[in-house]
Amino acid sequence: MNATNKNTDTDGLGLWRPDFIYSIVLFLVAVIAIAYTSQTQGILLGDYGFTTAAFFVVFGLFTITTGFPHPGFGHVSFDRVAQVASILVLGPIDAAWINGLASFIYPWHRLRDGTDLRSVITAACNNAGLMSLVILLCGSLYEYLGGPIPLLSLDLRTGGLLLLLMLSMQLMNDLGMMIVLYLRGISPSSLLNTFTTAVESVSALIAVVVALAFTTSDRVNFALLLVVLAIGMLVLKQYALMRHRLEALVDVRTEELRLQSIELQRQAHHDKLTGLVNRRFVDDYLRLQLEAARRQNIDFTVALADIDHFKQINDHYSHAIGDKVLRRISQILLNRCRKTDVVARYGGEEFLLCFPDTDAQCAEQICSQMRLAIEHTDWSDLQSPGGEEIKVTISIGIAESSDDSRHTTILGEADSRLYQAKHLGRNRIISRD
Ligand code: GH3
Ligand code: MG
Ligand code: MG
Repeated sequence: MNATNKNTDTDGLGLWRPDFIYSIVLFLVAVIAIAYTSQTQGILLGDYGFTTAAFFVVFGLFTITTGFPHPGFGHVSFDRVAQVASILVLGPIDAAWINGLASFIYPWHRLRDGTDLRSVITAACNNAGLMSLVILLCGSLYEYLGGPIPLLSLDLRTGGLLLLLMLSMQLMNDLGMMIVLYLRGISPSSLLNTFTTAVESVSALIAVVVALAFTTSDRVNFALLLVVLAIGMLVLKQYALMRHRLEALVDVRTEELRLQSIELQRQAHHDKLTGLVNRRFVDDYLRLQLEAARRQNIDFTVALADIDHFKQINDHYSHAIGDKVLRRISQILLNRCRKTDVVARYGGEEFLLCFPDTDAQCAEQICSQMRLAIEHTDWSDLQSPGGEEIKVTISIGIAESSDDSRHTTILGEADSRLYQAKHLGRNRIISRD
């Protein structure tokens, strides 16, 4: 598997991006290296002819094409099979240009998908340059240490050298990819993936079998092996595609569930009509805040507010108008609260206001502004033309926490003061007995 065949699509920055320049330089270095080594060693297409070279180019292209999506980035392919096999059959110099050519050809199909030319050139040059250099250097090391080319049989020493070949290719390939990722501002750790490494190692082993079969079997047996191999790769590709699609589906579903659960939680704590927090939420909140206020020895004040004669508004103007009044009053209460205060819809036309770190006197001032704002609200837009004028007022009972204040006691106090306010004629605030 060659990491350079992973997707190299880029965004639309300037032409001379670092990864673009790097790819061109890498490609030129590879061309010069191949030209130089073939010149000095006098080998190009050793004992094999054009047909063998063409076969390995096509084989190389096939292995690149039968790739699968990488969880971290783009596309990973089975090209390690063709690369190692061609080193073991043709030697590093021919293997380098043949696989370099295949790697160079592959990315151009992306032009049809709308990928820009610069990205395609970057991918082609990077793929071809890195692949050729990996094969040339690692293959030459293998050959220099006495690795047999062509591979005709396996013994322990050859096994060790093959292992070295595979490891050095893997290492150099990953290093090359890390440089590209670094230049693109992507974390190189996205390269490390156990599934991909396992497939790459297996591919290298398969390559040894292909090389042995190429040099020792007759053409029919070799063709049969290729067919089995091609089917195996295609099956694995389908598996990987399926896995990728499932993972993407799981990601989408997980996100949907996360949003749903946030929405459900929001709904569980909020009142649908007014958007205020509901009784369930404010009861829990109040218990915690009272406990915190007691331990930290700070003031905490609550106010129960109830719309006066609200039933008459419903009866005179309709339930729908009643709903609008409830919504507008909710906004008036919210607008006059500080960020740390909480306004909850506690019942039908009843609101609970919580004022942390606030004494009853200060809470009364805030509530007084609320009461006046409601009393002077212009409701004319809700009235029918020529209809009776809507008047809305509110009564409020206030209670401040004391050392032994519990949730029920403070609410009981606020409620009895609200009752007094109603009893004394409504549209007023009572904050002490
Ligand atoms: P008081 O001044 O004593 O509080 O009189 P009131 O009419 O406001 O009190 P009462 O408890 O008799 O009536 C409350 C009314 O609030 C009755 C109910 O129909 C109405 N109500 C409760 N929830 C809603 C709601 O969501 N929308 C509307 N439009 N009305 C509601
Ligand atoms: Mg009422
Ligand atoms: Mg009421």
